[in-house]
Amino acid sequence: MEKQPFQLQTKLLHNTQKVDPITGAVSVPLNRTSTYHQFDFDNYGKYDYSRSGNPTRDSLEQVIAELDGGYKGFAFASGMAAISTALMILSKGDHLLISEDVYGGTYRFVTKVLPRFGVDHTFVDMTQLENVAANIQDNTKVIYIETPSNPLMKIADIQGIAKLAKENDCLTFVDNTFMTPILQKPLELGADVVLYSATKFISGHSDCIAGLAVAGNKELAEQIYFLQNTIGAVLGPDDSWLVLRGLKTLYVRMAQSSRSAQQIAEFLSNHPAVKEVYYPGLNNHPGWAVHRAQSHGPGAVLSFSLTDEQAVRSFTQHAEITVFSVSLGAVESILSYPAKMSHAAMPKEEREKRGITDGLLRLSVGLENPDDIIKDFEAALHAAGRSSEIEIGG
Ligand SMILES: *Cc1c(COP(=O)(O)O)cnc(C)c1O
Repeated sequence: MEKQPFQLQTKLLHNTQKVDPITGAVSVPLNRTSTYHQFDFDNYGKYDYSRSGNPTRDSLEQVIAELDGGYKGFAFASGMAAISTALMILSKGDHLLISEDVYGGTYRFVTKVLPRFGVDHTFVDMTQLENVAANIQDNTKVIYIETPSNPLMKIADIQGIAKLAKENDCLTFVDNTFMTPILQKPLELGADVVLYSATKFISGHSDCIAGLAVAGNKELAEQIYFLQNTIGAVLGPDDSWLVLRGLKTLYVRMAQSSRSAQQIAEFLSNHPAVKEVYYPGLNNHPGWAVHRAQSHGPGAVLSFSLTDEQAVRSFTQHAEITVFSVSLGAVESILSYPAKMSHAAMPKEEREKRGITDGLLRLSVGLENPDDIIKDFEAALHAAGRSSEIEIGG
């Protein structure tokens, strides 16, 4: 009887990098070296220089490719390094179709850097396939999706968009940072390239900045490798090692944090001081069914809105457990304020047009006991409600 392939939970530990073939070490050896002695100038060894290849980085690249079911993985110095390097496959005259409430740094790269190289773009609401179809141009080369999107958790149909892309000779890129391969596997849904800020859930401990890309086929892998080696924004061996360590617990962290996020989302949606909750695990979320069909869970990030900036100020001053900062996907819960943090690069009109108001907060749920967070939020919401009443009253 043929053995079934391992499930992802098992693959995080039992993959090709499980044991070092030379020493038997069960933790991938840290290879801190910039260059490699060549024993024979007619026959170079596998490695020559660490920008071009490093065994520790290779191990990470191999593991992420296995997890995503891709042809080859690439590790970069940050999520933005992965995203901008991958987007450099575009050339002058090409057009990029991109989710409208995309990550702020990606927005900056697409609006401020790519146009200088003659690469044009259109932002679209990708929740409707017709919208995507209507905005594909003759020169569209890449359709770039973030789903759930940041910070409004809008859902795009990856399979539907990838099909449209293929029919129009475009590539589909997916920023899968919020989901990780544990919850969503874009390549299986027809995407061509998957991108990650590994700073977030994949490494998971708020202790390094890293990015990953996975190419779905050989041709794309060759293009991305060429750009990775040329631009040189590679991940160092120490950080590659940290990301590899973080990956081992990814499944349990995602499972626990997602369960807590569901509980917190339900609490918030029943609270009178909360105007709206954006979480694809709530069955009144407009993308609930599409998300459910294409993923294994709603994940650990949710957003919610209070009345205004004053209420946000009061809430954040009173919430004691959460770290108040940019970033997400860590063992500790992180509360952030998109208008002034992740989306500060976006002009106010653009932000508001996209629904990223001054009352919006984003929560990335960590590994605390969710009951403690709910109690803490209950008190903070009470204070926020009082501060708004005082404003209205006087
Ligand atoms: C953080 C983030 C990025 C950027 O990653 P860095 O590691 O900070 O460069 C890109 N996309 C999403 C969805 C993110 O959350």
